[in-house]
Amino acid sequence: MNNLDTCSVGFLWDPSLETFDFGSKHPIKVGRFQMVRDFLVDNDFLGQSNVEILKPEPLSEKLLKKIHAQRYLDAVKKMSETGEGEIAIDTPAFKGIFENASITSGATVTGVRAVTSGKVQHFLSPTGGFHHAKFEWGGGFCIFNDVAAAVYELKELGFHRVLIADFDVHHGNGTQTYFYEDPEVMQISFHEDPEWMYPHDGFIEDIGAGPGRGYNINMPFPMDSCDGVYKYAFDEIVPDLVEFYRPEFIIFLPGFDAHYRDRLAHLNLTTNMINYIAAFFHDAAHKFSAGRIGVLAGGGYTNDSFKWGIGVVMSVLSGFSYDPPTQTPPYKDDEETWEIVRGNVEKVKALVFPQLGI
Ligand SMILES: [Zn+2]
Ligand SMILES: [Zn+2]
Repeated sequence: MNNLDTCSVGFLWDPSLETFDFGSKHPIKVGRFQMVRDFLVDNDFLGQSNVEILKPEPLSEKLLKKIHAQRYLDAVKKMSETGEGEIAIDTPAFKGIFENASITSGATVTGVRAVTSGKVQHFLSPTGGFHHAKFEWGGGFCIFNDVAAAVYELKELGFHRVLIADFDVHHGNGTQTYFYEDPEVMQISFHEDPEWMYPHDGFIEDIGAGPGRGYNINMPFPMDSCDGVYKYAFDEIVPDLVEFYRPEFIIFLPGFDAHYRDRLAHLNLTTNMINYIAAFFHDAAHKFSAGRIGVLAGGGYTNDSFKWGIGVVMSVLSGFSYDPPTQTPPYKDDEETWEIVRGNVEKVKALVFPQLGI
């Protein structure tokens, strides 16, 4: 149910999301999704009449074949049976990896279908955002590229302007390869500088090709960037692009691993910034996309900041209030950071905006 003040939100959850095992030292730990669910229960989100649990379905054979090479699917299937081998050095295999990846990626498509069918207006998945997986092979903790699967599903349903708003601290290098020449998909990626940060891709100059030229936007940030420079870059770049593109569906990765408490990266955002970005895309979804927005949690490797991020985004989507604790990053934006970010913003605008006639 929903009225003018509250939007209906689907939360993707099922115990089967937890059937993975990258090992106890891996940043993605068993219990991650249960933790999110418990947090949402404890903060009464799941008790709200406009929030419902959606049970994820595995990825269909058809979508799997669309997003990955048969050779790779066969290899993952084999690793899944033996539990041996690895997708990449950072992505070890385990028994049942094929089935688990099918469900964690399938959750995204389940969410998309729930939104497009009108069952809910928005969805949030505690998993998903496997943006490093490419057609030929996975890696970077990503087995199957659910973002690509979601886009292909949307195309099948007749959508022609899908916005991927990827604010995960790592560049969405896998997703970029699928739609690099496709103007039916706009990908905006804000991330830590690929010069030193995994996956060492996502340079400003990579703006798309052919008919897709101008539809791939990369905005890198230097280490220790805080809310101030990030908001500046966001305001300079994103609203103009979204107004121009008028997306029919928004797939949003909020970037919980860009938080200052995250242990895998070096940006210094607080949940104030995450809240700001989420509110912008939620508004944009209502303005351009008939409310159609799906949120994929993506990265986030420190439990506290990951949960706070989920809380602020769920609050934006559902209208139910949540106040994260006060946060104080260890650094402030200094003159050098401002100079680099201003320079990057100018480069992005100079390269992309003329291509689109903005
Ligand atoms: Zn809404
Ligand atoms: Zn990440």
